[in-house]
Amino acid sequence: MPGQNSKQNSNGKAEQGAQRCSQGHQLREPPNTGWNGPIPAKDGGREEGYLQKPPYSWESKEFQVKYRAKCWCGKLEFEYHGDPIDAKHCHCTQCQRLHGAPFQWAALFHKTSVRLAKHCDPLNLDFFSTQEGHSEHSVPCKISCRNCRSPMA
Ligand SMILES: [Zn+2]
Ligand SMILES: [Zn+2]
Repeated sequence: MPGQNSKQNSNGKAEQGAQRCSQGHQLREPPNTGWNGPIPAKDGGREEGYLQKPPYSWESKEFQVKYRAKCWCGKLEFEYHGDPIDAKHCHCTQCQRLHGAPFQWAALFHKTSVRLAKHCDPLNLDFFSTQEGHSEHSVPCKISCRNCRSPMA
């Protein structure tokens, strides 16, 4: 679609080269949060040692927590660096069934801007691979709390 990669900002200046994904979200370079490796499971699927990589248990001094989100029982808490890329309500039937609700509200972050809080045991993570239909960790996947079952991501 012509013009899709440029838009006017509030100052009337054209913002050039802002890439958008298929859902129309603007794709900016991820902020520097101190992760130097490749983006884990960038193209989906399984990855060795994923629990020690973003968005799970990893540490860096560049990561500055701006937001936190925890499940109902508190055994899972995620930390977020900076502001979300975007936020959306999704009314698709997959989201309705996965969340048991008329829609899902999601705030979108780069994977390297997310981590599991230090006090959380990764054994409390539960996964559901939406492409493969099983509960092993394979991206894309949904994340929930193994204890209280709250959907987290
Ligand atoms: Zn919980
Ligand atoms: Zn949806």
